[in-house]
Amino acid sequence: MSHKDTAGNSKKSENTEAIELKLYKAHEKIHPREIKGRFQTLRKWAVFVLLGLFYLLPWLDWGDQQAILFDLPNRRFHLFGLTLWPQDFIFLALLLIMAAFALFFFTALGGRLWCGYACPQTVWTEVFVWLEQITEGNRNQRLKLDKAPWTVTKFKKKFSKQFLWITFALWTGFTFVGFFTPIKVLAEHVWQWTLGPWETFWLFFYGLATYGNAGYLREQVCLYMCPYARFQSAMFDHNTLIISYDEKRGEPRMRGKKRREESNPGDCIDCTLCVQVCPTGIDIRDGLQYECIACAACVDACDEVMEKSGMPKGLIRYTTENSLQGGESKILRPRIFVYAGILLALVTGFTVSFINRNEIELNVLHDRNTFYRVVDLNTIENVYTLKVMNKGTTPAAYELSATGLDGLEVVSDVDDTMFKAGPGELIAIPIKIRAPKKAANQRIHNIELRVNDSLNPDKDNSKSIKYFGYNK
Ligand code: SF4
Ligand code: SF4
Repeated sequence: MSHKDTAGNSKKSENTEAIELKLYKAHEKIHPREIKGRFQTLRKWAVFVLLGLFYLLPWLDWGDQQAILFDLPNRRFHLFGLTLWPQDFIFLALLLIMAAFALFFFTALGGRLWCGYACPQTVWTEVFVWLEQITEGNRNQRLKLDKAPWTVTKFKKKFSKQFLWITFALWTGFTFVGFFTPIKVLAEHVWQWTLGPWETFWLFFYGLATYGNAGYLREQVCLYMCPYARFQSAMFDHNTLIISYDEKRGEPRMRGKKRREESNPGDCIDCTLCVQVCPTGIDIRDGLQYECIACAACVDACDEVMEKSGMPKGLIRYTTENSLQGGESKILRPRIFVYAGILLALVTGFTVSFINRNEIELNVLHDRNTFYRVVDLNTIENVYTLKVMNKGTTPAAYELSATGLDGLEVVSDVDDTMFKAGPGELIAIPIKIRAPKKAANQRIHNIELRVNDSLNPDKDNSKSIKYFGYNK
């Protein structure tokens, strides 16, 4: 037992042992080995479909405009012919809540399916690793190349990789900005070198984020930055689908001569292929670890080994802890019902409110100073401020009417009872609703104010409002 004093001399201490504890683990680049198999095919399809949607959707038109466009300067969001305004923010909030519960539901049911198949970090990393493979070769070649001194060949390979990475990252940044600026206009700006400052900033920012995260940080994002990896265990139970090594079947693991001499070895031949293919560099045989992103590469690798060794597949497989311990897995369990119930209620609420979304947004405020005003011997009036927003994509000309009492009449100083609003325009006008004293003879009446769009007869909206009567 020894430690060094400040002068660097070794000293003996009696019963204490100096332990050097490193608080930071130096990063070692992981070069996962390429592997084929049913789950890797599934992952490739997921990459193909998800990235295909990302890169192609902004080029899709709907009518005379881009199908999906977050038009921030004009504060509207175009979605396949629908136009959403800031007043529709509730739908976005609902959508995010639904996404959160969908994540809870699928995590409880299928473990980290999101991480393994759909997370943008996983999906883009797949492409960057693939570009690395086509320029620098397979895992062994890449390991060798990293250790080799700089030569013209090494420079060419590294340069080609960087060229492809940077081009792909910039294309990603360009596509991202294309969801906010019409992508065809953006392409012209790029071509003519007339990009605006914000477009330039976001194009390079998103490009750099893609390049850094998928090219260099890779599994570091999952291990150290992703909050989901930390809290997903709260959604796990003994019936959650996980990827696990079957210890009972695999142990005692051994290989080579020792294996040949052993009368009853486990099925694991200790080839370490499952470790070599792991993108996060862990050994699944050590048990369930939060670093595991459930990519199933180790499942495919081990299945291949088992097949070649003439043993049944599934030494590493999708399973549950219950099943590993010899019990039965239960798919339908209380937490699944709770998540599914909440998700269903949210989806239903979202769908119903979205279908019934009215393109005329209406707000009516009663004048705070007086309940009513006497107009003449027989008539009183209530004064309101009417706020109408045209959430449609075409101009509107609104007509007002009121029902609920005999003889109601809506009067406005603005172009009588007809006023116009352009798409996305919010109009606030004072209106007066007049009623005969005889009819409005109670303290409060409930009446209905109706707004019709005379240019689009199928669009209207109404609101129930209070009307203060002449009660003397
Ligand atoms: S791939 Fe299978 S056989 Fe090879 S070390 Fe991993 S668990 Fe054992
Ligand atoms: S342990 Fe297996 S499933 Fe988990 S990240 Fe590594 S290769 Fe993928």
